[in-house]
Amino acid sequence: MRTIAKNKVKLQNHTRKLIHVIKSKLEKVRKESKHWKPILTGDNVYEKFEVHGHPTNHVVDIGKRLCTCQIWMLTGIPCVHACATFSRVNKQPEDFCHRWLTIESYRKTYNHHINPIPG
Ligand SMILES: [Zn+2]
Repeated sequence: MRTIAKNKVKLQNHTRKLIHVIKSKLEKVRKESKHWKPILTGDNVYEKFEVHGHPTNHVVDIGKRLCTCQIWMLTGIPCVHACATFSRVNKQPEDFCHRWLTIESYRKTYNHHINPIPG
């Protein structure tokens, strides 16, 4: 009961989209993404890219939220290849994190309260 109440108060002041831990991880990934070079495949909606780098190349599909390295799909956080692609098309990686990692989902977790019991 105390934990729920404490976290509910903490969340009142948050205006960011992601929780702090996820935001830190995403910043680290974004810095590492500068070593990768996305190349547009020429699709009509500008969503498919081949991302070149070491040790191998990967394919990113922004529309399907997929990368062939599978990290984006498994963690819900865009991988270095996806972040490299986002910087190419001027999109924010925060908008492509899984909804479970957002402050809004965290708020829903602590949206309820436990009724006190006398005695
Ligand atoms: Zn990837």
